[in-house]
Amino acid sequence: MRRSIALACSSAKIMSLASKSDEEIIQQVRSKKIAFYGLEQALAPDYDRAIRIRREIVKTDMCPSTASKHPLDTLPYQNYNWERVVGQCCENILGYVPVPVGIAGPLMMDGKEVALPMATTEGALVASTHRGARAINLSGGCRTALLKEGMTRAPVVEVDSFEEAIAVCRFCEDNFEMLKAAFESTTRFGKLRSIKCAMAGREVHMRFSAFTGDAMGMNMITKGCDKALGVLKEHIPSIRVLSLSGNFCTDKKPSAVNWIEGRGKSVVAEAVIKKDVVEKVLKCTVDNIVKLNVSKNLRGSALAGSIGGFNAHAANVVAAMYIATGQDPAQVVESSTCMTSIDKVGEDMLLSVTMPSIEVGAVGGGTGLPSQRAMLELMGCAGANAESPGENSRQIARVVAGAVMCGELSLMAGHAAGHLLSAHMKLNRKPSGP
Ligand code: NAP
Repeated sequence: MRRSIALACSSAKIMSLASKSDEEIIQQVRSKKIAFYGLEQALAPDYDRAIRIRREIVKTDMCPSTASKHPLDTLPYQNYNWERVVGQCCENILGYVPVPVGIAGPLMMDGKEVALPMATTEGALVASTHRGARAINLSGGCRTALLKEGMTRAPVVEVDSFEEAIAVCRFCEDNFEMLKAAFESTTRFGKLRSIKCAMAGREVHMRFSAFTGDAMGMNMITKGCDKALGVLKEHIPSIRVLSLSGNFCTDKKPSAVNWIEGRGKSVVAEAVIKKDVVEKVLKCTVDNIVKLNVSKNLRGSALAGSIGGFNAHAANVVAAMYIATGQDPAQVVESSTCMTSIDKVGEDMLLSVTMPSIEVGAVGGGTGLPSQRAMLELMGCAGANAESPGENSRQIARVVAGAVMCGELSLMAGHAAGHLLSAHMKLNRKPSGP
């Protein structure tokens, strides 16, 4: 009864707002009767109108402009699937930024052709990745393997004594099955694999690692950790949870723990590039690239004190694919850690990438937006895999590693042949450009 009264009130409110003019609603926002951030909720399901009104407020109250055309008039907002965005992907919406999407490949990977969609504004990136794919295909394709899988989240708890901190660590070891059951009661797909405890003073940092099916898994694992901590607190009531995320996870920040232990999917990929392909397609020699890889990706990165940066430009390819397929772009930080190995085998070149922390999902976050989902469909791994949950997100990780290898091959060859500057001048700048 109460619920139907509430529903009737809220639909009456929506009806009355719908009949008001834009100017009247703007006045209500100015007088704080409607929150600036609450326009979508207030005017649902007319999200275009909510966004149009916010744009007017921004133009007049926040960012007035003396230009003949306000900058916001260039940002599109219509004909977008806002119901997929509101409450899930973005707040205070103004519109969307169209980003060009190119395609590299297909790449012959694990015996199948896979397309490599890339969203970028860096001229030469798609062309270069495409060239790498061609060289790999002409040499028989590449292989990938997923060595480890587990999204991580590390809450930090505080206790009052040294003994209690030790007791927390021991409890996690001795009662893992109990914590696992609590964790898994929150999800159909998440499976807790381990809890690694580290003590720092009277704090315990607990790195939970879980299989998260086809989801990248950050929300899923955070929910599971919260439940498991509730059970831990029932047994050790003195614990105080300082944060569900204590940075030992480590999410969206450089860290050795992800590089060494892995986070998300740990993938390796390799290809043997034939000598004549190196010379004819990549315009350099096997010896040149092998030597350059040691100088640049190993010695240079060692001198720089790099963590996981033993590569030429893995982040370029990872970022472009993440944006195209609706992954969380901030996770490019750890997802692009990569060691590129290049050796001579006989006359040919053995190329491989080691990528321990590829964080990707086929469901959740931006992957459900229509354009991003369409790109995952091009790759053959959109949405939940009904037969084998997790298989689609694993395939995305493999494709990302394969694409990174294409990018590494082409750029390393470009450096070795001295083509880096000329290719960028040709593909980054139009003759009339600045
Ligand atoms: P999510 O969309 O929050 O959760 C995945 C949902 O899909 C769950 O409800 C899950 O069911 C369901 N699902 C259906 N079929 C599935 C399948 N085959 N495999 C896995 N799940 C399936 O996504 P998430 O990956 O956990 O979180 C991603 C979002 O978290 C992104 O938007 C990202 O930007 C954001 N994020 C959050 C944090 C954080 O600290 N919380 C940090 C970084 C990023 P169940 O409910 O049964 O599990």
